[in-house]
Amino acid sequence: MNKEDTIIAQFDYTLIANYFSVIDRQGPGGKEETLKALSFMKNLPAKPKIADIGCGTGSQTSVLASGMDCSITAVDLLPEMVEGVKARIRRDNLEDKVTAFVGSMTELPFRPNEFDIFWAEGSIYNIGFEKGLTEWRKFIKPGGFIAVSECCWLTNKRPDNIGYFLQNYLEIDNISNKLRIMEQAGYLPTAHFVLPEHCWTDNYFAQMETRMREFLEENNNSTAARQFVAFMKSDMLIFQQYKEFFGYVFFIGQKYD
Ligand code: SAH
Repeated sequence: MNKEDTIIAQFDYTLIANYFSVIDRQGPGGKEETLKALSFMKNLPAKPKIADIGCGTGSQTSVLASGMDCSITAVDLLPEMVEGVKARIRRDNLEDKVTAFVGSMTELPFRPNEFDIFWAEGSIYNIGFEKGLTEWRKFIKPGGFIAVSECCWLTNKRPDNIGYFLQNYLEIDNISNKLRIMEQAGYLPTAHFVLPEHCWTDNYFAQMETRMREFLEENNNSTAARQFVAFMKSDMLIFQQYKEFFGYVFFIGQKYD
C-alpha cells in the first residue's frame, strides 16, 4: 500500500477529503516550480491540450491556465477535490480553459495521442511511478511532454529510521533510478529538479496549523480527527528531521517514438 492508501485504510476517507479539500494544496510544490517545469517543454503548439491528473484543489491547474493559452482537463478521484478545483477556476475566471471531473488515474477515459502535456503534481504515487508513466504514454502525442513530481532519496545516505520511509513512501528511490524508469517507459528525460524547502514549509505546512485547529473544531474533537491530526503532525516532523535525505523531485520527460 502506498501512503495515501495506508491513511485511507486507517481513517475514514470523508475525513481526509474534508481535511484536504479546503486547503490550497495537498502536497509540496509552488507556482514558480510549476512554471519552471513548464519552461522545459519547448516547441509546444499554440494552444496545448493538458491533462492534470490527481489535480487536488487545483493549485497547479490555475497556475498553468493563468500562464498560457491552453485547455486543461483536470481529474481527481475525490469529488470534494473536484469541487475545490471548480471553485478555484470560477474564482480565477478560468472557466473557459478548464474542465474538471471525478475519475481515477488508473482508468482514464482519454483517446490515444489526445494530449500535448500530461501533468501529475504530487499524485503519480497513487498509481505508481513506472505504471503511470507507462500507461499514460499512449494518451500523449508523439513529441509531447509529461511532468510529474515524486518523493526521492536525494543522496546515497539513508536515515536511521529507513523502515518508516519504506513503509510510507513505498516507491522512494534514487533520482537516477527514477530517470532510468522514465527512459525505459519511452521518454527522453528532459529535465529534473528538487523542490526547494519553501515548497514544503511555506506553501504546504504553513496552512496546516490553522487547518488542524478548524478541522478539530468541525469534527468536535473526535478521536478519529485527533488521530488524523497526530498523523499529519508526525509527517511534518519527519520532513524537518530528515530533509537532507529525501525530497520531492520534478521530472519532465518527452515522449519519443
Ligand atoms: N496536485 C495536487 C494534489 C496532490 S495530492 C497538488 O499538488 O496540490 C494527490 C491527489 O491525488 C489527491 O487530490 C487525491 O485525491 C488524488 N488521487 C488519489 N488517488 C487517485 C486516483 N486513483 N485517481 C485520481 N486521483 C487520485
